[in-house]
Amino acid sequence: MHIALLSRNRTLYSTRRLIEAAEARGHSVRVVDTLRCYMNIASHRPSIHYKGEEIESFDAIIPRIGASITFYGCAVLRQFEMMGTYVLNDNVSITRSRDKLRSLQLLSRKGIGLPVTGFAHSPDDIPDLIKMVRGAPLVIKLLEGTQGIGVVLAETNQAAESVIQAFMGMKANIMVQEYIKEARGADIRCLVIGDKVVASMKRQAIEGEFRSNLHRGGSASVIRITPEERSTAIRAAKAMGLRVAGVDLLRSNHGPVIMEVNSSPGLHGIETATGKDIAGLIIDHLQKNAVRSRKTPPKPKG
Ligand code: ADP
Repeated sequence: MHIALLSRNRTLYSTRRLIEAAEARGHSVRVVDTLRCYMNIASHRPSIHYKGEEIESFDAIIPRIGASITFYGCAVLRQFEMMGTYVLNDNVSITRSRDKLRSLQLLSRKGIGLPVTGFAHSPDDIPDLIKMVRGAPLVIKLLEGTQGIGVVLAETNQAAESVIQAFMGMKANIMVQEYIKEARGADIRCLVIGDKVVASMKRQAIEGEFRSNLHRGGSASVIRITPEERSTAIRAAKAMGLRVAGVDLLRSNHGPVIMEVNSSPGLHGIETATGKDIAGLIIDHLQKNAVRSRKTPPKPKG
């Protein structure tokens, strides 16, 4: 196959691993800088141009679109979809997963376990919002945050009220969430490919920190997940429409609860922790499904 990897930086670990895995399987790969693609949205013949030329056609696209370029990146991906190219994850699923609130609303509709979460606009509603999520300690999250930045633990109702007021005053979109204390600073990342969890790891926050993100100093180790956690992760990825996803969940007293579903999961942490060739599994999945879709082309989603 001729594969395009939509990525801004070919030196990133995940990008390098995907190239390696694809080439090892006899595919050709071109790294395409998402922000250098520009589009001709003509009827009947949508096309993409790249650095002065119309881009060649690809059999499949692997999108690795960073959170800061979601809008433009998804427009480029949508254009590829309009041109009938098979994409590993489609633009609608990626857009959904980038909005934490929208994601939780979709997951709640499917009855998937979630921490009790509230969302409000008016400062007048803050006291009731806090009550609704069962009071402090609680977690306040910026909807657009990543890597644990903009995730705050408020230990008392007064602290929660001041932080929420401050965020609202700055017109930042936030949600307020029950604090899953029993997770003890650990979360579980499940790597879903198709309808399988192919790898999972536990991330443990450093002493005195509740956020387990590796970027926040958390450490990763292999973990055996329960059948309930496995099925929750698969259902979560499916609810978002993602074929490949990093599903983050917490072990709560009321079963596994989803925190986030990531559409461009990093491969470094999980491959290192588990020793598995995740990039290879992604390419195998892509190959199987892109070939199948060529026989029955999907309708592009807008
Ligand atoms: P980000 O997308 O910025 O990583 P997350 O929502 O995943 O934000 O939160 C970052 C980390 O904070 C999580 O990995 C988890 O360890 C911790 N965390 C988030 N929400 C909760 C919660 N409701 N209860 C307990 N810990 C939480």
